[in-house]
Formats: sequence, C-alpha cells, structure tokens
Amino acid sequence: MSISLVAFNTFALQQNCNSLVEVTSKAELIDICNNLYKQELPMLVLGGGSNLVFTEDYDGTVVKVSTKGIQFTADDDYQYITIQAGENWHNLVESCLQKQIDGLENMALIPGTVGAAPIQNIGAYGVEFNRFCYEIEFLQLDTGHLVRFNNQQCDFGYRESIFKKQLNNLAVITEVTLKLAKHWVPVIDYGPLQHFDPSTVTAKQIFDCVCHTRQSKLPDPKVLGNVGSFFKNPLVSTKAYNQLKLRFTDLVAYQQVDGQYKLAAGWLIDYVGLKGFHIGDAAVHQEQALVLVNLGNATGKQVCQLALYIIEMVFDKFGVILQPEPRVMGSVGEIDIK
Ligand SMILES: Cc1cc2nc3c(=O)[nH]c(=O)nc-3n(C[C@H](O)[C@H](O)[C@H](O)COP(=O)(O)OP(=O)(O)OC[C@H]3O[C@@H](n4cnc5c(N)ncnc54)[C@H](O)[C@@H]3O)c2cc1C
Repeated sequence: MSISLVAFNTFALQQNCNSLVEVTSKAELIDICNNLYKQELPMLVLGGGSNLVFTEDYDGTVVKVSTKGIQFTADDDYQYITIQAGENWHNLVESCLQKQIDGLENMALIPGTVGAAPIQNIGAYGVEFNRFCYEIEFLQLDTGHLVRFNNQQCDFGYRESIFKKQLNNLAVITEVTLKLAKHWVPVIDYGPLQHFDPSTVTAKQIFDCVCHTRQSKLPDPKVLGNVGSFFKNPLVSTKAYNQLKLRFTDLVAYQQVDGQYKLAAGWLIDYVGLKGFHIGDAAVHQEQALVLVNLGNATGKQVCQLALYIIEMVFDKFGVILQPEPRVMGSVGEIDIK
C-alpha cells in the first residue's frame, strides 16, 4: 500500500491504495477499466474525490479520470455541450457563462468532475443536473461496450440515478452531453436568489450570488477537509410533516411537487445540539450542521461513527432516518456506513 490518497479526497483522510493510474484519454480509460474488470481486480474510478469517505486502505487500483475536452454545437433552439468525464464541473459552468450559454449558474462551485455529476444527480439552489442532461456515454463493464443513455434511461432522482442502482459499479462514465435552451429562464425561487427580479436578472448575477453564498456558508476543503452536505435532506409525507410541524413549530422544510416535504437535515442536526460535536478529529461543522469536517487527523472510521451517532440522535428526536450522501469505501469497494 504505497500511494497516499490524502491529496485525492477532499476530506483529506489519510489512507493509501495499492496503485493509482491517471488517465488522460478516453481510449486509455476504456482499456484500463476493461482490463481490471476482466481480471476481477478491485478498481475505484475516481474524479475529484469530493464525495468519498475512505475508511481503510484501498486494496486495489484507483483510476483517476483526467480526460479533457469540451465541444459546443447548437441548433435553432438549443446549445449542446459534449464534455469529457475528467473536466472540472465548476470550470465548465464558468466556460458556459463566458460563452453566454446560461442555465448552469445555480450549480456553480460544486466540486468534482463532470463524469461524476450524473451519478448522484448533483444539484444546488433549486437546479439539478438532470434538468440539462441530454445523453450520458459510459463503458458498461460487464459487456465491455460503450453505451449511450438518454435522460430518461438514467432514471434520475434526488441525489440518485441508475448509476447508483442497477448500474452501480458497472458503468464508467466517459462523456456527458448537456442540452441548454437558448431561451434562458432564471431559477431564483431559492434562498438568497429570491431577491432578484426575474425580468432583469442575469445569469452572471446568479452565478456571483451562488459563489458568494457558498463561499460564506461552506468550509473550503483546502482549509478544512469535508465532502459538502453529509446527509440527504429526508423526504417525508404530508401527514408526517404535519405531525412534526405540530411538535416542532420552527421546523424547516420545503414542499415538493409531488406533495412530499423535504426536511432540512442541517436544521434537524442543529436542533439535537450537535453543532461542534466531535469524535476524535471528525466534527460537525460549527456553522453548518449538515457538513462534517476533518479537524486534522480524522479517520474515515471516526467520520462514520460520528455519522451513525447523528443518525441515532435525529431518529430518537424526530423519528426520521438520515441517509448519508457520500460513498463510503472499505478495502475493496463501497460499504454500508454501519
Ligand atoms: C465543499 C463541497 C460542496 C459540495 N456541494 C455539493 C452540492 O451543492 N451539490 C451536490 O450535489 N454535491 C455537492 N458536493 C458533493 C460532490 O461535489 C459531488 O458529489 C460531485 O459530483 C463529486 O464529484 P467527484 O468528481 O469529486 O466524484 P468522486 O468523489 O471522485 O466520486 C464519487 C463517486 O462517483 C464515482 N465516479 C466518479 N467519476 C466517475 C466516472 N467517470 N464514472 C463512473 N463513476 C465515477 C466514484 O467511483 C464514486 O463512487 C459537495 C462536495 C464538497 C466537498
């Protein structure tokens, strides 16, 4: 176990792996992944490491995806952007803005690569990746073939997609194509964006506001290791929401189009008094209870112990089960947090 993963995960967890290959071309990515899969060797396809918790040394090969390239085409009504998996997501958002291709601005500053974006259907400030997803190209490991899925086939949901379900560990995303309408409609019904006037606001103003808000609210992983929100916001029925609201009058929740309510997980954690609570160097962030941070020498195991404690406390108080958002890794693959 000779290669340190500390620079390859934003939690800065100090684990190692057997070997690490950085790939810069699609052909190389396909070749390496096909070979490792055929030999039944453990492999982890890695983007920016911003959604991973390493709990042990990884007894396999980490394939770091660094393929680059962005192509822009258009028809009368839409812009189409085809992006290689290793491109940085935020750089893409900025490039689009510079070319006056609007739509991605609410998702500015989400860390990581474009290839990882479909996996948990990234989203922020009222907009999710699937809003613009036209096509995903991936290597299907059990057949060894390149496949293309349209938006519907990806079965996107809240922090969900087919790549976390039926195709979990079977798809290496090689390329993403987005489709953005030339007629831009701003999404400003979320938090700090609500003060904008929809008839005059520009995508650049939304971008700047999102960047400023994120920088003031979220700890910078370069300073304090973290993976952003550690838990998904739990979805509950209207009945469950009404019952909770009677007991906890200042409960923070957002009604969904299907009538369910999305509870603010950070509020639940804050309510049970866990801001600043820590196990070893794994801590609940002082300002933002939804974010767990590495105070210095946290281990992945401590992070998991802390997460389990939070899940238990929140369940005891509200009867709601929090689900972790990042992928937890054991010595040869993904593991359950327990
Ligand atoms: C400070 C901070 C803020 C964040 N804010 C948000 C937010 O607002 N919204 C949000 O949705 N997320 C957020 N995240 C989480 C994270 O940015 C996203 O999950 C992102 O998509 C992860 O990208 P990555 O390249 O770092 O993936 P990694 O962490 O490298 O990998 C994540 C998973 O995807 C797999 N994977 C990666 N690339 C590929 C590929 N090409 N093909 C197949 N599998 C692949 C990996 O094997 C792993 O299972 C935040 C994280 C941080 C640190």
